[in-house]
Amino acid sequence: MVKAFQVLDGVYQIDTTPREDVPISKAFLVVDKEMALIETGPASRNVEVVSAIRDLGFNPAEVSYVVPTHIHIDHAGGAGLFAQQFPKPRVVVHETGARHALDPSRLLESTRQTFGDKFDEIYGDILPIPADRAWIIKGGETFSLGAGHEFKMVHTPGHAPHHFVVFDTKTGTLFAGEAAGNYHEEIDVYTPAAPPPAFDPEDSIRSYEVIRALNPTALLYSHCGLITDVERALSEAAESAKGMAEVALAALKAGGDKEEVTKALQGYISERIAAGPKGKRFSPEQREALARRSVRMAVAAYTIYFKRKGMVT
Ligand SMILES: [Zn+2]
Repeated sequence: MVKAFQVLDGVYQIDTTPREDVPISKAFLVVDKEMALIETGPASRNVEVVSAIRDLGFNPAEVSYVVPTHIHIDHAGGAGLFAQQFPKPRVVVHETGARHALDPSRLLESTRQTFGDKFDEIYGDILPIPADRAWIIKGGETFSLGAGHEFKMVHTPGHAPHHFVVFDTKTGTLFAGEAAGNYHEEIDVYTPAAPPPAFDPEDSIRSYEVIRALNPTALLYSHCGLITDVERALSEAAESAKGMAEVALAALKAGGDKEEVTKALQGYISERIAAGPKGKRFSPEQREALARRSVRMAVAAYTIYFKRKGMVT
């Protein structure tokens, strides 16, 4: 039985996590006169997502819009399959990611390289989004599900160049994907959601400002769910993005290798944990271990970013 429940008025959260050893992820079904599915999760969770929609009392064949916030496999991996199963929905893709969404062969190859042999077993195949069903956007486009839920899609690069957020102008809820950073509940710390190879901290910080300017009342993150302290989330994600950039760059400029960049980022996050609301709960050793876990992806992401910018060799 998939975990699915109502998280806000007319909004249902569906768990799309493929396995316990990979990050938790979620999709959201928004129900009005019409329905939108924001994120699909990977193709390996298709059966569970479709049955969760039925268990919630809705007909998946009636979904009008499938809206993955970006084309990473844990968000959009199941979008092609869903579109091939059900003839109704349009699938929204930002123009920057459209080529890979319509022909996922290269995306599939690079994702396989990242995840290795476990890939197919965990995430399943990526099927192409049929070209006549794709709605390729630039950002700024809108759609309505009825009187209660109207959406504006806003381009928010940083986590990935093809990332956009889905803002419900009627309720103030913003489906953030990973564009508002990442919340690490255990340590009560926000960081940028920083995956290699295309992460850009400066674009991320600009995107946090774009989100702030929309004045959302709540954020729905596709990994950690509902966040209502919007101001704290955005300002701390921006602080972390800047702070992590500074310490990673300093370590790289000093000739640091992967382990030294890891130590620098780990030290920075450990200090944030100590200064944060849960700081007193952990011993320095526990803080170090938790911080190390939270920066695993960021080490490669920042290293590749500064090399791409020509700031280190
Ligand atoms: Zn992502």
